[in-house]
Amino acid sequence: MDIPSLTIGQIRDGLLARRFSAVELARESLRFAEAHNSATNAYLRFSPERALGAAAHVDEKIARGEDPGPLAAVPVAVKDVIVTKNVVTTCGSKLLANYVPPYDATAIVRLEKAGALILGKTNCDEFAMGSSTENSAFGPVRNPLAPDRVPGGSSGGSAAAVAQGTAVLALGSDTGGSIRQPASFCGIVGVTPTYGRVSRYGLTAFASSLDHIGPMARSAGEAAVLLQAIAGRDPMDATSAEAPVPDYTESMHGNVQGLKLGLPREYLKDLTSETGDLISAAVATLRKLGCDIREINLPATDYAVGCYYIIATAEASSNLARYDGVRYTSRSAASGTLSEMYRNTRGEGFGAECKRRIMLGTYVLSAGYYDAYYLKAQKVRALIARDFARAFAEVDAIVAPVSPFPAFRLGEKIDDPLAMYLSDIYTITGSLAGIPCMSVPCGCTAAGLPVGMQILANHFDEPTMFRLADAFERARAN
Ligand code: GLN
Repeated sequence: MDIPSLTIGQIRDGLLARRFSAVELARESLRFAEAHNSATNAYLRFSPERALGAAAHVDEKIARGEDPGPLAAVPVAVKDVIVTKNVVTTCGSKLLANYVPPYDATAIVRLEKAGALILGKTNCDEFAMGSSTENSAFGPVRNPLAPDRVPGGSSGGSAAAVAQGTAVLALGSDTGGSIRQPASFCGIVGVTPTYGRVSRYGLTAFASSLDHIGPMARSAGEAAVLLQAIAGRDPMDATSAEAPVPDYTESMHGNVQGLKLGLPREYLKDLTSETGDLISAAVATLRKLGCDIREINLPATDYAVGCYYIIATAEASSNLARYDGVRYTSRSAASGTLSEMYRNTRGEGFGAECKRRIMLGTYVLSAGYYDAYYLKAQKVRALIARDFARAFAEVDAIVAPVSPFPAFRLGEKIDDPLAMYLSDIYTITGSLAGIPCMSVPCGCTAAGLPVGMQILANHFDEPTMFRLADAFERARAN
């Protein structure tokens, strides 16, 4: 078994041919992941009991001649903002260092039902706020391809695990780019599904109107299999969509002849770096595949970063109010009165970025500023969504960069929040519009740093997005 290069298909074939059992695979995968974790700090915690229990279940099914499920014995890493029953879930925060959730997120329940093995929980920026995983209370993650660089964020641990081969698949969460940007930095595939496509039940809330759970994988095909397993209506999340879940693999036949693709002028005008060259080369490949490529305008793009950092911080300031030393979190010892206890718990527990966002979010929601900031941002959000709606009247999908630059050095942007926020410039728009978007590797810079191409599609049109990603991967492999 070559653990770091295993595919879903190889695992299935090996199990059914009885070359190895699910329990053997679980043991080997855990051993490999634990042995290699010090190189990246991608995992915060392993969950061997859970993985071995699920593996035994898969073996029993195979012994009884039953179908063990589409993800049978596939090792999956889970971002530590997604709750797992009886497995500590920290959200990258000191406040939740010992928090043991009493229930599973719906995505976790569905993964295990499909036969997957939850290997462990991955490191991330505190409450998913960040673009480099340096805001974790448990130390940063290193990019497995360039250890002096960040893996991106906030799902940096999940991206690093998949890139390093210490998991076949991973779950990330995306509010403004946290799946796509680390996928791009680590050279893997990351998918932000349509808002509401995957239940948020059990995803720790950062900015509820923007939060998504999504797949991270080494190919578009494997990301699609993962999405298939977790997508669909969930009575536990009122914002999960009723829309039926199509068979994603059916659209992955390699034919994209005549597909109309939009290239947004606003995304390409400042992109002169190696990233720009790689995106241009990717577009040339798509043209060769028979795609009909045209330039489009998304004029509200310039306001996206400002709009996002008002809406996201406003929602975060409200969502983070629950960490008060009474309900979930550890409590500050040095407290006299109740208000001192709140203040000390939150003052000692939250890291600098969370505090910055709580202050900003509280400010934009406060009486007198609500109209000037929050309400205005909501209007801009509607304009951004309208830009996409107009574009999709004309094209089937949009192609763009994921990030203006490849993985940066650890420490390079940590003291400059504005520079850090600007790394989300191309991913935030899709999140605000709630449309499906993904990152697909499109090559490396001269220094060997991966670059991702972003594909955006209309609401619930994941099939077109996957079809294009898959055709592009095939073309690159040839
Ligand atoms: N980097 C963005 C932020 O810091 C996005 C985070 C995310 O998608 N969770 O808010």
